[in-house]
Parts: sequence; C-alpha cells; structure tokens
Amino acid sequence: MLVVMKPQATPAQIAAVEEKIRSLGLSPHAIPGAQRVAIGITGNKGALDPAMFEGLPGVADAIRVSQPWKLVSREVKEEDTVIDVGGVPLGGPAIRVMAGPCSVESREQILETARAVKESGATFLRGGAYKPRTSPYEFQGLGEEGLKLLALAREQTGLKVVTEVMDVEDLPLVSEYADVLQIGARNMQNFSLLRRVGKSEKPILLKRGPSATIREFLMAAEYLLSQGNYRVALCERGIRTFETMTRNTLDLNAVPVLKALTHLPVVVDPSHGIGLRRHVPAMARAAVAAGADGLIVEVHPVPEKALSDGQQSLTPGEFAELMTQVRVIAGAIGRPV
Ligand code: PEP
Ligand code: MN
Repeated sequence: MLVVMKPQATPAQIAAVEEKIRSLGLSPHAIPGAQRVAIGITGNKGALDPAMFEGLPGVADAIRVSQPWKLVSREVKEEDTVIDVGGVPLGGPAIRVMAGPCSVESREQILETARAVKESGATFLRGGAYKPRTSPYEFQGLGEEGLKLLALAREQTGLKVVTEVMDVEDLPLVSEYADVLQIGARNMQNFSLLRRVGKSEKPILLKRGPSATIREFLMAAEYLLSQGNYRVALCERGIRTFETMTRNTLDLNAVPVLKALTHLPVVVDPSHGIGLRRHVPAMARAAVAAGADGLIVEVHPVPEKALSDGQQSLTPGEFAELMTQVRVIAGAIGRPV
C-alpha cells in the first residue's frame, strides 16, 4: 500500500499517518518526491483496505502496489533515485564510471591505478579487499590492509571508494573505509547480510546473482530498502547461461527492464559480464547506449600479473580510450559523464 500525501500536507499530518501505520503493527517508509511525500507501507500479510487511510487529514490517495517488490518499485516512487555519495551523485542524468582493479594488491598497484582512472574521468575507485574466490587456494584479498590502501588512494585522488563486504562480521570495519558497500553476486541472496547492510547508513551497490532472475534481484534490493537503507544502486554483472565462449552472459535486457520497474540507479559491469578484456569495451559502450546510469570496470596496470581477474582487466591506456568512446555515446543520448 502506498499513501500519497497532498503536496501541501504538513509534517504533523505526515507524522500522524506514520503513527497510524505503526499502530497497526506495520512499518511506514516516507519517500520524499519532487511534488509530494508518499508513504510506503510494509509488513502487512494480506491486502490493506485503502479506506483506512483515505480519510486522514493531508492524504490525497491510498493505492495498492501490485508488484511483490514495493519500496524499490516505480509505482511507489516515480522519480529516479539519486544517491549522494559524499557530494557525488550516483543516478540522475550523469553517467558515473567506477574503475579499478579486481583486488587491491599493493600500495603501488592501487595508487597507480587510481591516478590513471581519475585522469581518464572515473569518479569512483573500485577494488576488493575481501574477495569471494571460487577456490580457497586463490588470493583472498589483503583484508584491512587493502581497505587502508583504498583510503590512501581516495585521499590522493578524491575518488570515492567502492569495495565489497562479504560477511556480516566484516561490516563495521569495511564501513569505516568504504564510500559504497558492494554486495557481491554470490551474496545477492544472503538474506542475513542484506538485512544487516540494510540497516547501515552507507550507499550500497548490489550485484545481481549469477543465476538470479530480475524478480529475485528486485526482491533482494527490497530486503535492503525494507530495513531503511534507500541508497541502493543495482549492478547487472552477467548471468550464467549455456554459453561457454564468454565468462558470463551480460544481460543488457536487464537495463531497460530494471529502469522501467524501479527508481534505483542501474550500473553495468561489463568486465565480469563478458570476462574477456578485448570485448569489455564493446559491452561497456552497449551498456551506456542501453541506458545504464553507471559502469564498473576492472583496470590493472599490468593485467597479466593481476592476482585476480587479469584476463578481463583493461590496461589504463585501454580504459582511457574507452572513456573517450563512452563520452561520445553518452553525449548522443543527452547524458554527461
Ligand atoms: C568483483 O567485483 O570483483 C566481483 C567479485 O564481482 P561479482 O560479485 O559480480 O562476481
Ligand atoms: Mn573481479
């Protein structure tokens, strides 16, 4: 249920509606819009009767939300969500590029990469300190040392830091260093992690699970918003299909479909999506043309020597060239980079 307040509704009238919702044992979620406030209701088992709210002072309308996802839905919030990441908007007209290595490996590696991607126009630095690796014998990340190096790179370049939190236990530490918490594809349905991160104040980049449908992806995001964190961006990073020539199949269908169903920003990860360095730029360009609000791209100074995902990492030179192309495509659809 969505209770739409009149544009002139007073804060006291909004508070009274919220109180009424709480008195029914349900949760109110006030969603400020450009024209008016809407209050999403969650926690009800069956359908609610709109008449319970329609007569209250300041209420314009009470509408049933037809989708199983509520707070992430465009039905509840028509305008695009713009997430303020320490002064940098994620979502909205400008396309944001996040770039950096798969894993933070050393001081030199992360600083060199950060300077290079900043120079080319990235606004976020990506890099994992806790890595979800398929094999327990592969490099698992530098842990806190990696987080410190990311913070140092931020200090030197002004880039915002996106890094993965793999476990509930690591959340306090990762939150001290990250500007955006990445939830990895393998954890998209780790509901206890989602609930916990949903209570955090930090913006979140939620990656789509390799076998998740768009519905399941939206329901995972709903877990985050249901806990009070509305600063969520979605990331399409490729799904598992029968195809074996590429690492994953980048589902660019998801971009327009998600943009229609949800107000949350949609970011595309062409690196994990196709998994092959020579084809990453093509998919990055396609993602921008399809309407993505951002890209997250793996870049490494010497990809052959990378401790993870070197086969899909661009060199700084290749990234610079990609940025030039991305600007042209973004310009053609009226979006700045
Ligand atoms: C990554 O960003 O390096 C990563 C592990 O991504 P994903 O969770 O999408 O596999
Ligand atoms: Mn990676």
